[in-house]
Amino acid sequence: MRKAQLYINGTWIEEPRAAEPVKNPYTGEVIGEQQLATPEDVDRALACAFEAKKEIARIPSYERARILKRASMLLEERKETFARWISEELGKPLKNTLDEVSRSIETLEQSAEEAKRLFGETIPGDASARGTKAVAVTFRVPVGVVAAITPFNAPLNLICHKVGPAFAAGNAVVLKPAPQTPLIAAELLKLLLEAGLPPRAINMVLGGAEVGQQIVKDDRVNVISFTGGVVASRNICALAGMKKVLLELGGNAATIVHEDADLKRAAALCAKTGYSNSGQSCISVQRIYVHESVVEPFTDLLKREVEALKVGDPLLPDTDVGCMVDERAADRVMSWIDEAIASGATLVCGGKRRGATVEPTVLFNPPKRSKVVCEEVFGPVVSVIPYRTIDEAIAETNDSAFGLQAGLFTNRMDIVYQMAEALEVGGVVINGTSNFRLDHWPYGGVKNSGIGREGPRYAIEEMTEMKMIVWQFPQ
Ligand code: NAD
Repeated sequence: MRKAQLYINGTWIEEPRAAEPVKNPYTGEVIGEQQLATPEDVDRALACAFEAKKEIARIPSYERARILKRASMLLEERKETFARWISEELGKPLKNTLDEVSRSIETLEQSAEEAKRLFGETIPGDASARGTKAVAVTFRVPVGVVAAITPFNAPLNLICHKVGPAFAAGNAVVLKPAPQTPLIAAELLKLLLEAGLPPRAINMVLGGAEVGQQIVKDDRVNVISFTGGVVASRNICALAGMKKVLLELGGNAATIVHEDADLKRAAALCAKTGYSNSGQSCISVQRIYVHESVVEPFTDLLKREVEALKVGDPLLPDTDVGCMVDERAADRVMSWIDEAIASGATLVCGGKRRGATVEPTVLFNPPKRSKVVCEEVFGPVVSVIPYRTIDEAIAETNDSAFGLQAGLFTNRMDIVYQMAEALEVGGVVINGTSNFRLDHWPYGGVKNSGIGREGPRYAIEEMTEMKMIVWQFPQ
């Protein structure tokens, strides 16, 4: 049985603590145990990060880059093992977890590369009459302590997206991973230490919201980098006080399929990216707006693709859809499906569950105010909704509290420009679905989908301050 221990001040905590079993959500079997942090543990972790921040900032960037590169290479060597571990802990199919590990390798590698690119600029003073004999030079300097609070759904890559850039920028980190997936966080931490991460560069505390809240409130933290849901994020903003808060939140992502689209390709991609990790992705395809002239053939094609998905044991290599994170999540999704059907939606396929597994479900035309449309489903449920005009598709997509990414299938350039300009989201994917992300691209949303951008280069910008040195020359 694996164990997730607290890691504070360069030491794995061996003294007894309250502990919780970690279960495989597909089999219900206990696969490990996590220690739970006490308020004193959290305080010691914060104190360590605060004291260590100067020592971490002094590590030259070539050395920080070398450590992160080594970590990415170690992860490459252990790819299958890490993928299997995530599948066991989360019920995410091996197909998806192999992909997540590959992405984590890239995230660490890109963080290593970006560690060497903390550039500033030289700004001549003579744009002002008072500055004809002056010049300014800017540098990026670490903020000090970064608090990294992460969710369960991509439990490896989302930690890499915080720890990689934070260390690349020269910061000390306090990490609080999701309570559902502490084991993989502990394995990553061991790997980072093996790669040479200085022991005091990171502390890990385990537990739920109360542990996160204690970190968020603490004035020794300079930047909070949070990925999770909107409820937690509102609480974080209320507690954080004078700190920079970066928020990567959820969405009810839309993908638009216009009348000229390649329907077969659009249906295949919607099926592939609407149900991966049982829809537990912040940009999972949730609402598909389809032009009324092609909505019937599109729905038929989508149904065929979705019914062909293999649902089952996450550890089998050909499984497309495993289970949700726990039975409570499956209960919630089932009640949302029932609500949509009761209020007028047609069930195209799916709609059943077994344990924590919810069958991939397609709904046709649920009312606008049903939860499957206007809230974040975060489950394997996709709704097909017809539209008449481009303006209507834009208005419906934007009629959301969220705005992370959107997909658009069309080959008409005029529509691409019109939509790309009008859609209220952080990114528009043309001839693809909302659910496509490369880890070096700027990623983030507007409205309730978040504040700030992730991706090593952009996260480093957020996790550093600009410092200016000014030279005045004799007249
Ligand atoms: P969650 O908000 O419940 O928890 C996320 C983390 O925050 C956990 O570690 C949790 O213990 C901690 N937490 C909870 N309440 C807190 C509080 N008040 N103060 C401090 N910490 C607190 O989210 P989840 O259920 O683990 O993950 C699902 C959510 O994450 C979805 O909404 C999903 O869309 C979002 N998500 C966003 C992205 C992105 O990059 N935009 C990526 C993945 C997931």
